Amino acid sequence: MQKATETVLEIDLNALAQNYRYLTSKLDKDTRVMGVVKAFGYGSDSVAVAKELVILGVSYFAVAYPDEGISLRKASIETSILVLHPLPATFKKITDSCMEPAIYSRSMLTQFIDFAEKSGLTDFPIHLKFNTGLNRLGFIADDIDFIAEKTTATFSVKIKSMFTHLAASEDAAEKDFTESQLGQFKDISEKIINKIGYKPLLHTLNTSGVLNYPEAQYDMVRTGIGLYGFGNDPEENKNLKPVATLKTVISQIHTVKKGETVGYNRAFKASETTKTATLPVGHADGIKRIFGNRKGWVTVHGKKASIIGNVCMDMIMIDVTSIDCDEGDEVIVFGENPSADELSKVINTIPYELITGVSQRVKRVICRK
Ligand SMILES: *Cc1c(COP(=O)(O)O)cnc(C)c1O
Repeated sequence: MQKATETVLEIDLNALAQNYRYLTSKLDKDTRVMGVVKAFGYGSDSVAVAKELVILGVSYFAVAYPDEGISLRKASIETSILVLHPLPATFKKITDSCMEPAIYSRSMLTQFIDFAEKSGLTDFPIHLKFNTGLNRLGFIADDIDFIAEKTTATFSVKIKSMFTHLAASEDAAEKDFTESQLGQFKDISEKIINKIGYKPLLHTLNTSGVLNYPEAQYDMVRTGIGLYGFGNDPEENKNLKPVATLKTVISQIHTVKKGETVGYNRAFKASETTKTATLPVGHADGIKRIFGNRKGWVTVHGKKASIIGNVCMDMIMIDVTSIDCDEGDEVIVFGENPSADELSKVINTIPYELITGVSQRVKRVICRK
């Protein structure tokens, strides 16, 4: 790959392919994969990622909101798309673009059937989401009769799949809880199948579910973070490769004398002569302000350089006193080194938040390394 000459987010489609192969190696041959490409493909480029995933063989995409799926449709992606978080106000957008809603409550089901009947839809695919302990979105066991009655009394919709979402599939200490979620789902889905007389697709696992509970893979898995290179476990991370690398370049180098300060609020004070580099990337690009004052770091020629002073909107300053570097040299903000995983740990967050936080101002560059 070419050296960066400005701030870019490189998206490595070969890393995506490698991650896809690793995750599918954990699954039975005929288990379908739903590629989760919400939030711009976890901050990368949802269209580029989705097109590659089509080639790799995914059966489904998941987005959170309809507009995210419409971007895929505009790019001529015809694969089925599940919208995880519809609202009654977005039903029309969803059906107009041949997307399929997750239905998660009695009121949603009633409203969607009503909408589908008025729109003259028949057998429109819907996906039922069950709450088995996450307590975020979903039907519960008490809703089984209601669901069966409502969906069998109309020709407008057909249950394409039923699913649940695990609350702590990455956490071995929560194994009992996870198993209780899976047990509830098994029970609920069997009862519904009995009542409706056909068998929708069943799915329960996100990435760490695939890695830790492959026995619960059913017909399909919904994987997001793993595709982008993170396994919610340091050991699993070794088998995966970050798809996104945030790179930038040194704009200017300064020699700051003892007693001088750097940046807003004079937050960095030089206790000795310090060589600093200014980079064209700031909190408006996704470098959280909390990374300032030596909490976070970047690498320059593979060497660690701390962020000094406060993170500005469009810039950060780093300490390169002991690094042989010049203006124009490439800087890695995150990728292989430092990884978004290690950086996220120092500010008590998770790589999901860092990678989805790279703002749309940063140019995306697609590559194959
Ligand atoms: C985001 C999401 C996923 C993907 O989870 P990962 O941990 O990124 O694999 C799967 N299912 C649902 C319902 C989601 O909201």
